[in-house]
Amino acid sequence: MNTKIIRINKETEYSEQLTEASEIILTGGTVVFPTETVYGLGGNGLLADAAQKIYAAKGRPSDNPLIIHIAEPCDAEKYAFVNDVYYRLAEAFMPGPLTVIMPKRECIPLSVTGGLDTVAVRCPSHPVAHALIKKCGVPIAAPSANISGRPSPTSAKYVEEDMLGRVDMIIDGGECEIGLESTIVKIDGNSLTLLRPGAITRDALLCVCEDVKIAPAVIHKLAENEKPLSPGMKYRHYAPNADLVLLDGNSDDVLSFMINEQKSTGCAVLCYDEELSCLNPDLSIAIGTRNDLATQAKKLFTSLREADKLGAAKIYAHLPTLDGLGLALYNRMIRAAAHTIKKI
Ligand code: AMP
Ligand code: MG
Repeated sequence: MNTKIIRINKETEYSEQLTEASEIILTGGTVVFPTETVYGLGGNGLLADAAQKIYAAKGRPSDNPLIIHIAEPCDAEKYAFVNDVYYRLAEAFMPGPLTVIMPKRECIPLSVTGGLDTVAVRCPSHPVAHALIKKCGVPIAAPSANISGRPSPTSAKYVEEDMLGRVDMIIDGGECEIGLESTIVKIDGNSLTLLRPGAITRDALLCVCEDVKIAPAVIHKLAENEKPLSPGMKYRHYAPNADLVLLDGNSDDVLSFMINEQKSTGCAVLCYDEELSCLNPDLSIAIGTRNDLATQAKKLFTSLREADKLGAAKIYAHLPTLDGLGLALYNRMIRAAAHTIKKI
């Protein structure tokens, strides 16, 4: 397949440039587009065939459902049975990095929802994503635009690494602002279950809804026979090719361990900016300062991809804490590490 790449400058008028992209989507093709979280691999959310093409391009198991992206929060009513809690969430967080799971309407094919009777809905704030969805006039079903299991792409460079020749078009809209996928919540009556943490933190959700449970798979490894609330949680994810090991201990001890391991085994590390000068610069990637979780989130997936390119067999990183945005970092990193945590 020949993949057309178009580059969009957010400062100038780009509506014309999106015409061809919307024609591809409407006729059942695939277009990768930027969002504020990560790049999405989009297809027409009302066409069963488009979903099949998305699964094939990603190499994703087809029981792992797709999120549909809408232009305005109220569009959710056309595709899902919404309630008052949805509108409270929409008022507080949309457009933005929040996905809400609700019972689906007939028009959403089961291939989009992985056979489930619920659908995941998100209204992105990225201007290019918004303009594209609006131009199409249909919901765009889109998972992250990576080969299944690899780190999600936060710039077109990484999309091209994974998707060239696999999709009809890639829209390069620069770097994604947040860098981690959306927060996913499921509405159950008046309460919420957090299925995937993201930039909308549990504390922020608690301001809108008193009861926010955390699904066990967010933090813990599921037993072989346990069924996750979100099918995607059972798969290894975000993983570099090298083995990632998370170090749990006080920061000074973790840094000493990293320094010694680099000397003895030549491993790669993801470190905080302030630690870089103590480490081997050829084998270390700084992901932001210790307390700057937003920068760490933005750089995480890029760092995992770049760490792989250092050629080491093992990558060590700090185990994040569970507070605020730390929960989202923790959730992605334990999956990338296949739950390998070493106590220091
Ligand atoms: P991605 O498309 O890569 O951002 O991943 C989407 C995530 O949303 C996956 O983990 C899916 O399993 C999850 N998801 C999508 N739709 C549903 C749904 N109806 N119920 C539960 N989880 C869902
Ligand atoms: Mg993904």
